Amino acid sequence: MSTDLIDIHAPAIEVRGLVKTFGDNEVLKSIDLTVTAGEVVCVIGPSGSGKSTLLRSINLLEAPTGGEILVEGIDITDEDTDIDRVRTRIGMVFQSFNLFPHLNVLDNLTLAQRRVLKRSKVESEKVAHAMLDRVGLREKAAAFPGHLSGGQQQRVAIARALCMNPDMMLFDEPTSALDPELVGEVLQVMRSLADEGMTMLVVTHEMGFAREVGSRLIFMDGGVIVEQGNPREVLANPQHPRTQDFLSRVL
Ligand code: ADP
Ligand code: MG
Repeated sequence: MSTDLIDIHAPAIEVRGLVKTFGDNEVLKSIDLTVTAGEVVCVIGPSGSGKSTLLRSINLLEAPTGGEILVEGIDITDEDTDIDRVRTRIGMVFQSFNLFPHLNVLDNLTLAQRRVLKRSKVESEKVAHAMLDRVGLREKAAAFPGHLSGGQQQRVAIARALCMNPDMMLFDEPTSALDPELVGEVLQVMRSLADEGMTMLVVTHEMGFAREVGSRLIFMDGGVIVEQGNPREVLANPQHPRTQDFLSRVL
C-alpha cells in the first residue's frame, strides 16, 4: 500500500488483537484500542503490565507477534508499508530524554529534519526555533543538553519530536525520571499541546494530568486493558477490583 494515501477519516491509531510475546512471556494479550484524532488517551497500570510495549509496538520499535496496527488507516504491520514514512507521523517521547549529548539544542532539533525530511539548514533552524519557543526554551538553542535541567531536557525532547510535524504524540512516562519540582513544567507543555488539539497517547503516573487533560483513561494490567472510560469517572469510581486495588495504592 502506498503511504501517500493517508485516509484522513481513519482513526489516528487502531490496534486490533495485538499480541506480543517475549519468549514464553505473553506481554500483550490481544489488545484492541482505537484513538481518534484529537483524543488525549492516558494509560496507567502497574509496572510490567505492558504499557511501554504497547506504545513501542505502535511505531514498530517492537514487532507485533500477532494482530494489526493501523496508523491513519495504514497497516504498519504490512511488510509493504514504508514504516519510516509512517513513523515521521508519530512523535515519541521517552522517560529518558535521549538527546544527543555532543550536539547543542539547535543541532538536536535540526538533525532528523534534515536527514529524514530533507529540509534545508535554514528551514530546519526556523522550525527548531519556533518549536523551542513553543516549549518555552527560546534562549537555549546554543546550550548543550548536559547544561540543562531534566525538565528542560525533556521539553527539548518534546520540541524535537514536534519539529517533525507529527500528527500524534506518544509519551512513555515523560516525567518519571524528573525531580518532583521539574514535573510541572513538562506537564504544562503537554497540556498546551493537548489544548491545541494534538492526538496524544500518554503512559503516566500523574493522575492529576490524566484527570484534567485526558479525554480517556485506560487501566492496563497483565497485558490486557482491564478498564477504560472518562478519567474522572474511572479515578473516582473504578469498576474492576484490579483497578480499585491499583488506585488505592497510588492515589
Ligand atoms: P510497563 O511499561 O507496563 O512497565 P513493559 O511493557 O515494559 O511494561 O513490560 C511488560 C513485560 O514485558 C515485562 O514483563 C517485561 O519484563 C517484558 N519485556 C519488555 N521488554 C522486553 C524485552 N525486550 N525482552 C524481554 N522481555 C521484555
Ligand atoms: Mg514502561
